[in-house]
Amino acid sequence: MSALSDDLELVKVTKRYGATVAVDAVNHHFKPNSYTCLLGPSGCGKSSTLRMMAGHESISDGSILLGGKDISHLPPAKRGTAMMFQNYALFPHLSVAENVAFSLKMKGIDPGERAKKAGEMLELVDLSALADRLPDQLSGGQQQRVALARALITRPQALLLDEPLSALDPFLRIRMRSELKKLQRELGISFLHVTHGQDEALALADEIVVMNNAVIEQAGPAREVFNAPKTAFVAQFMGGHNVIALADGKYALRSDAVRLTDVGSGKMDAHITAVEYQGTHVSVLARIAGDQEVTALLPDDVFFAKPRNPGEPIGLLWDQENLHTLTM
Ligand code: ADP
Repeated sequence: MSALSDDLELVKVTKRYGATVAVDAVNHHFKPNSYTCLLGPSGCGKSSTLRMMAGHESISDGSILLGGKDISHLPPAKRGTAMMFQNYALFPHLSVAENVAFSLKMKGIDPGERAKKAGEMLELVDLSALADRLPDQLSGGQQQRVALARALITRPQALLLDEPLSALDPFLRIRMRSELKKLQRELGISFLHVTHGQDEALALADEIVVMNNAVIEQAGPAREVFNAPKTAFVAQFMGGHNVIALADGKYALRSDAVRLTDVGSGKMDAHITAVEYQGTHVSVLARIAGDQEVTALLPDDVFFAKPRNPGEPIGLLWDQENLHTLTM
């Protein structure tokens, strides 16, 4: 498989359900061999986009290319993609090994070959010891690995994952996300992961594609999307930012880039409305002109070196380079 063969591209991809436009002429080139998170609030069109790529949903307009080939109208099994579902969709009456080998059975591959391939996949996800169990004899995390092995046995060029961690408890979610990332690196194929959690996207993604209202608002390396949001929506959705309207425009300013100083000696004056202790940090909420609120997130030692109280007037300070112009 050449490095370019798993280039996945959306060209003016549109999905309409009756009068609802769920995905509106979306263009995007996914980087090969990389981990991409499709991030956005519920209803923005993420799952529809993923399902169209997988072939589980018809495409209303536009095309989907994989390795330069138009796969828009191919059946799911012929696309070179594989999908892992949120609820894992395991067959309850089949053993772990039989679940993993299922698609090979459908293809008419003989039992010996199926068992061998399923064994390799179970080894990959560290489940060899549980090959003969039924799905309901597994933990949530183990079921997820079975679903992964089952998707990967088809040797896809791109693995599509729809909210793959949402059924897990918070502890397991964090463990499984590092396993997903490791697997993507080992296999060297593209993973495309739909999530509504910005922390999950930041932890996993080489590239984050932020969707809102059926379109892509911003796409780029995780750090770039977080550090330099282009729109108020992206700044607010990624979190950790203030969105403020100044005399010459609207800006995003990271909360941890705001410092406190004495009134009259900062970039603007404010008065404190709330102070919240958060362990490693203290969050200070301050009201500025125009009835806008700004959050300053201070390391706890910095705050407690000079504690402040609600009602106090203060100055707010930041470095100009931390102010990012928003286009809307
Ligand atoms: P997300 O995955 O971001 O939550 P979806 O792609 O599931 O968003 O949905 C996008 C929009 O399309 C929503 O308005 C949703 O209600 C609508 N939608 C999704 N699936 C269907 C369907 N099968 N029939 C009608 N409308 C749908």
